[in-house]
Amino acid sequence: MKKLMAANWKMYKTAGEARTTAASLAVLTADTLPDDREVVIFPQFTALSPVADALRHADGYSVGAQDVYPAAEGAYTGEISPGMLMDCGCTWVLTGHSERRHIIGESDELAGAKTAFSIKAGLNVVLCIGETIDEREAGRLGEVLERQLAAGLAGVKGDAVPAAIAVAYEPVWAIGTGKVAGPPEIVAAHVLVRQLLVARYGQVGSAVRILYGGSVKPENAREIIALDNVDGVLVGGASLQADSFSRIILA
Ligand code: PEP
Repeated sequence: MKKLMAANWKMYKTAGEARTTAASLAVLTADTLPDDREVVIFPQFTALSPVADALRHADGYSVGAQDVYPAAEGAYTGEISPGMLMDCGCTWVLTGHSERRHIIGESDELAGAKTAFSIKAGLNVVLCIGETIDEREAGRLGEVLERQLAAGLAGVKGDAVPAAIAVAYEPVWAIGTGKVAGPPEIVAAHVLVRQLLVARYGQVGSAVRILYGGSVKPENAREIIALDNVDGVLVGGASLQADSFSRIILA
């Protein structure tokens, strides 16, 4: 199973800036990207085609969108469909990111509808789940992960798994805050996610990649990637500069 090294560029970078960063990344990792790693860049919408173009010849690289709407087309002002994303060169999409859940107010069910529709349309999905600090301190970690995973995967059948799906465990309190979950906290949460996946899909669930996200940096990436049940990372802030993200990719 290849480690999935994912970059969430959030609402940063113009199309031109994103293209330049993607091209620099490809140069910095050319010939050195290990066979057991693959990289996905999630830029904002107007940068999708330029980034896909910049990475066209970069082996091991793919492009994904940060959001999608669960319909092929229609009167959904401001939204974008899986087919439109694939037309821009996307093969991946993020669903359920905590910034969409907590800032935009997206429900567990909408994240699930986006996940199922995208997979049926032919995209690969990184479904993000994770608890807030209040939920963790109230001892509700297991309940939150179980609820978000059940709703997020409600329409995803076992035959689409594991090729098309990865789950990112991202504790909300560690995203963009500089606070990294410690190795015991990461391992405990990933074991829980693994158990939930196996309970849902049987042995197939043991091959679904589980990524960690939350203030991953070049300095801590190697230790995190080596932990049990950590099959990659989802990186925000430290993925914005090619030099920094290349050091994470190669950690
Ligand atoms: C993210 O946006 O998914 C993320 C993990 O951000 P950061 O690495 O900045 O915490």
